[in-house]
Amino acid sequence: MQSPGFLLIISGPSGVGKTTITHEVERALGAVFSVSLTTRPITPKDVEGRDYYFVDKPTFEARRDRGELLEWAEVFGNCYGTPRGPVQDTIAAGRIMILEIDVVGAIQIKARMPEAYALFVLPPSENELLRRLRSRKREDETVIQRRFAKAKSEIIQAWECSIYDDFIVNRDLDKAVAEAVDLVRQRRDR
Ligand code: 5GP
Repeated sequence: MQSPGFLLIISGPSGVGKTTITHEVERALGAVFSVSLTTRPITPKDVEGRDYYFVDKPTFEARRDRGELLEWAEVFGNCYGTPRGPVQDTIAAGRIMILEIDVVGAIQIKARMPEAYALFVLPPSENELLRRLRSRKREDETVIQRRFAKAKSEIIQAWECSIYDDFIVNRDLDKAVAEAVDLVRQRRDR
């Protein structure tokens, strides 16, 4: 018998490896990645429609005000939100829908859909997180320090809000991926 679909929330600070974990869960379990709407500027690494739908602020606000977003949050001064339609369709089709969203968004989802399964990915240490943020060579030092400060406060918030079902420490990426796939499989088969 096919297992019912459900929402999988994956959160964690920038640079912690959550995108790799997300892609592996997609591949291993046939899960579907929810493409968010964002007002943040597109970067050369982003693909429109695969990573995000890039929109301007008035478009974002209009869609949010029409009730088209399941949750939304402001991160680093930009708005991010989850389109409602694909989530409903994917779950109805019996598949796992992955939301790679921040803690504020995860709290909104859990309040409305307590059966959603929420994972938080932690770095092995603060120093290691800072090292990884720098090694991505994606931003200048000011932005890196801002992301680092936000990461530390997000980790505290994640512990304190008590909505996360499990925490994974990404010390070794292969092991963290295997652990995540295992946990999600257990949740699916329970
Ligand atoms: P980035 O700009 O680095 O891709 O993402 C910045 C942050 O926004 C990450 O923590 C990411 O998980 C979060 N994020 C991405 N999409 C959404 C969304 O639809 N809703 C919420 N609440 N957060 C999101």
